[in-house]
Amino acid sequence: MKVKRRFFDDGHAMNSIWLALVILIVFSLLNLTHYYMSLKSFRQNMTETTLQRTTNYITRTIRDVNNTYAYSSQVLAELYTYKIQQDYDEAEILADLKQKTETISVKTIGLVDIPRGLYLDNFGRVLSLDLTSDRDKWVREFVDMPQDSRYHFYDPDNLEYESLYSFYHDYKIRDEHGQTIGILGVGIDYTEFYNRVQGLDENISVSFLTQEGKIRLPQDKKGESVFTHFPYISKNIFNSAEEVDQIIWEYRDGESFLLYFHYLEDINRVLFLKMDFTDYYNQSKTQHFYSFLLGLFLTVVVVILNLFISLYQGSKLKHTAFYDSLTGCRNRHYLENSIIKSNYWGQIRQDQYSMIAFDIDHFKQVNDTFGHLEGDRVLKQTAKIVSHCLRANDEFIRWGGDEFLIFLDMDAQNAIRVANRIKEAIDKDTVVSLSVGITNITADDNFKTVMSRADSALYDAKKNGRNQVKAHWLVTGETVDSAV
Ligand code: GH3
Ligand code: MG
Repeated sequence: MKVKRRFFDDGHAMNSIWLALVILIVFSLLNLTHYYMSLKSFRQNMTETTLQRTTNYITRTIRDVNNTYAYSSQVLAELYTYKIQQDYDEAEILADLKQKTETISVKTIGLVDIPRGLYLDNFGRVLSLDLTSDRDKWVREFVDMPQDSRYHFYDPDNLEYESLYSFYHDYKIRDEHGQTIGILGVGIDYTEFYNRVQGLDENISVSFLTQEGKIRLPQDKKGESVFTHFPYISKNIFNSAEEVDQIIWEYRDGESFLLYFHYLEDINRVLFLKMDFTDYYNQSKTQHFYSFLLGLFLTVVVVILNLFISLYQGSKLKHTAFYDSLTGCRNRHYLENSIIKSNYWGQIRQDQYSMIAFDIDHFKQVNDTFGHLEGDRVLKQTAKIVSHCLRANDEFIRWGGDEFLIFLDMDAQNAIRVANRIKEAIDKDTVVSLSVGITNITADDNFKTVMSRADSALYDAKKNGRNQVKAHWLVTGETVDSAV
């Protein structure tokens, strides 16, 4: 009968599993944190790069437009300086303005003649100015400005001027005394400008707002309040945009988007961008989620591998701990932990098991005569010869010094035969002889009782002149000496 003994029976495996679980949990938490951090940094990066790109583009576009038409307005202003000081024909000027718009491809050229109180433009309009009115106060404001030119967004509410809805470059017309006598304004169509900006990215919608939050662009929403469209925008945040750019992240109705407010000083408007990140965000979320799963998978693989390595090493360590390094036999540690404490002991008490205890005769003399190294060699040789006389199932243990124990899966009579075979082999091949004690193992026995019978048999063998086998076995509670 083969009795199985487990290697992992002292809690080592459980410790390794607990440790693996703890590592798994810690790494999963780290991985999860990393997942949220990456999403957060993705949002920040997206914000920074996209906003920077967009606002740069818009500001540059405004400047480009400005630069392009600044020169035209200046040249035209000089051209009309002379003309408006003459007694001009209005029709001729109107025709001239119309023709010039075509030459320089602009939407509007407007001419203000201050002494005559007139406004003339390429649409053939000749309007009387009323510098005290709200409609014409821009003329007064510009004349009062120290600089000769300005760029502005002209988006009147009044229908009379609606067709002038444009980005304008105005230039002052001065007489020879430096007195402002007129204004020449070149205007380009806002839609052209708006399309250039809006075409930048389909996920970005652009609006221009007044400082009160009224939409001026796009024209189809003109006059509406930004707070009606986005009720969750606080007025405080909006008002702060004039000082510092404001960013609001929102996740509403499955849509992830960003609202951005940036004050454009050039045209005295608040640039309002709404960027839709839903697709980017969902894609990135999926990507990050897969990398999270990969991380988790790798962690599980590493932890499981580590667990197996640790269990393997543990078992190897235990294996080493259970063998006697000199003779290669099992050691006393093994006997105490794996035989006496395991179910092996219960098992051998139910079957016919017996135990042999033997001790080398006068071994001290071997050491004294041939030296300790030779003693070691004889010990090894003895163990080797004995193990050749045993079966794989027999347990062969070095009990200590030159004393060994053998557990045999057979009754004591058969064990005596094995013992004699061992003794003969030792007599034949070594310089030493053995004294051997044998006993049976019964259901009532524990290790101590078995050991004491085997020991007393061994003692008898020694006392009786050594180099012999003695047996003491228990029959119905009585120890019987055997005739060997
Ligand atoms: P006896 O017939 O009564 O057994 O005489 P003995 O000389 O063998 O006496 P005992 O068994 O009491 O002494 C065992 C000796 O074995 C004592 C010790 O020096 C020696 N010994 C114990 N372990 C080792 C070992 O690992 N190597 C060597 N070389 N000697 C050992
Ligand atoms: Mg001895």
